[in-house]
Amino acid sequence: MSDKTNSTSVRDTVILGSGCSGLTAAIYAGRANLKPLVLEGHEPGGQLSITTLVENFPGWPEGVQGPELIENMKKQAERFGAEFQMAHLVSVDLSKQPFELNIGAGKEPIRTRTLIIASGASARWLNLPSEQALIGHGVSSCATCDGFFSSGKEIAVIGGGDSAMEEALFLTRFASKVTLINRTDRFRASKIMMERATAHPKIQLLSSTVVEEVLGVDEKDVRGLRLRNTKTGEQSTLPVSFMFLGIGHTPNAKMFAGQLDLDPDGYILTHGNVFPTHEEKEVPGVFACGDIQDRRYRQAITAAGTGCMAALEVEKFLEDHGR
Ligand code: NAP
Repeated sequence: MSDKTNSTSVRDTVILGSGCSGLTAAIYAGRANLKPLVLEGHEPGGQLSITTLVENFPGWPEGVQGPELIENMKKQAERFGAEFQMAHLVSVDLSKQPFELNIGAGKEPIRTRTLIIASGASARWLNLPSEQALIGHGVSSCATCDGFFSSGKEIAVIGGGDSAMEEALFLTRFASKVTLINRTDRFRASKIMMERATAHPKIQLLSSTVVEEVLGVDEKDVRGLRLRNTKTGEQSTLPVSFMFLGIGHTPNAKMFAGQLDLDPDGYILTHGNVFPTHEEKEVPGVFACGDIQDRRYRQAITAAGTGCMAALEVEKFLEDHGR
């Protein structure tokens, strides 16, 4: 870490988050000679770092491992002068320029003229030890990323909302059978999605059922699920080769509540892709990119795209303000 990182000097830009959008912003800001500081939080590299093969990122005809893609982006950003620091943003007052980022008691605050928020959205997990052990080995929270690997296999999708329905329908392109497991007998999904899923010959719905264990930890491959019916208490085993989580995402934007407009689920509302607002007015010097402001596409390439836009807007903002 350079002295500058800890000094009280004011940076041109700080990027919160080191996933695909934050790293792309860092590459662009670095190439613009802005010496960006990237703050890496509790999930360095973001969602790609817990994915296996990424086959839909342009430029990789054979696909690329998610962690490798992230590592390459990081090296590319470092090559252009980006610096990295492990830090968790505790608070910041976005109404006072330069922004002073409080990163915890006893740590020097970081001062910056602009802030790029790329803190992403974390997929929700069941948080079973067996599930956590098999992430990337048959347990996935991204059907678009990993669906292809389930070709010809029997799989399970967890959840009862639109995400789960969408994932289940998407996965029917590959899997021979999809069992959709919902913890209650009430489904949150919209009527149309529900109808599509129930009408699909490859999809079977299992309600009032919870996963108690993912089987296959010793084999390092999902072999099945141990299930419990919440009404009868009856236990059963479902032999599947994949478990996809479709139980929603949690945007990492809590620390901006009250300072930026958030949607009812906590995603940052932006106009022009990367401009957050407060009470519907633009917040000067603050930009948001990637999954924190995108609940619709959530793809590596769209995150990279808005990361690029955010960095270009930072450049323009600094120029407009005499830098
Ligand atoms: P959601 O509507 O909040 O549904 C989450 C589902 O996961 C619920 O069935 C919930 O069960 C279940 N769940 C949550 N935590 C769980 C846990 N620990 N164990 C087991 N099950 C758990 O989330 P979403 O489906 O991601 O949708 C979010 C928003 O995006 C919605 O407004 C949705 O309409 C929208 N969306 C739309 C589309 C589309 O239109 N194509 C696609 C995706 C998302 P409970 O009901 O028991 O809480």
